[in-house]
Amino acid sequence: MDWLSGQPVIDARTPGLLGRLDSVRAALRRPPRLRVFLVGDDPASQIYVEMKRKRGVSLGVEVELTPLAASVGAAGLWSLVSQANADPGVDAILIQRPLPFAVPASLPSLQEWVSAEKDVDAFHPVHLGRLGQGAPLVMACTPAGIMALLEHYQVPLEGRLACVVGRSPLVGQPMGLALLNKDATLIQCHRKTEHLARLTAQADLLVVAAGSRGLIGKGHVKPGAVIVDVGIHRRPEGGIVGDVLADEVGAVASRMTPVPGGVGPLTVHFLFENLVTLVEARLDTRRP
Ligand code: NAD
Repeated sequence: MDWLSGQPVIDARTPGLLGRLDSVRAALRRPPRLRVFLVGDDPASQIYVEMKRKRGVSLGVEVELTPLAASVGAAGLWSLVSQANADPGVDAILIQRPLPFAVPASLPSLQEWVSAEKDVDAFHPVHLGRLGQGAPLVMACTPAGIMALLEHYQVPLEGRLACVVGRSPLVGQPMGLALLNKDATLIQCHRKTEHLARLTAQADLLVVAAGSRGLIGKGHVKPGAVIVDVGIHRRPEGGIVGDVLADEVGAVASRMTPVPGGVGPLTVHFLFENLVTLVEARLDTRRP
């Protein structure tokens, strides 16, 4: 079994990303600027935001972190995000989730808070719609990272049977659409799916994004399949594991992403590929 590590993919893509960032920095006459809203004191969110900030700084992106107490409330946060949407000095916006409060029906749905032009997470319905129509500008960072990983390691997709476990708007759903766009045949599973193992065991490529620790064992896997494990679970004894039981699945799969060191770092990297793509698109429309 071969490991599909994220770092070689990042190393291969970083020079191109740096070149694109140089061009947009020259066109803007300042570094591109990402505004990050972090609400509440969720320790995992704080770790993720710090990873994103560090990566941004290493790429020469200005990352402006706005930490807020949960007492800001949905209306207060929406108002700050709306101001950032209108601010020409802000190129991209990220709201770290989960939020410590629900969004009331009196406000627009959270997916539409960040304007599509500044939405590095590609959470906005415009981005999911474009992906569904086979013409994405940006796609959510995790599926974008996985598609880059599959391309880097030359995993064949055309005509192959791919199974995605999960259908969330930020991971499973865009993942399925992206695979269809590459002419894979798709089985999309979710919480209500019956006979999960019978379906997953047919797949040449199995992408697991269920958020359920150890959900996938060797009985779920076709011998020789390629496995992408998106799950992240912090073990009480330390370290992180995925949705896949790596030891037993590793004995039947041909290739598999490690946890940690697989999909996670690529997700962070794609925040900045998305940022530069959005700025390039905006600068394009300014051309006479
Ligand atoms: P989510 O809870 O929003 O969605 C989970 C999906 O899995 C749902 O569609 C649900 O129907 C499905 N599901 C849950 N249990 C299932 C089961 N037993 N059988 C079949 N389907 C089931 O979660 P999400 O945001 O999509 O994230 C999924 C996992 O990926 C989480 O562990 C999350 O921490 C992780 N994640 C990792 C990265 C990364 O960079 N590696 C990025 C995003 C999310």
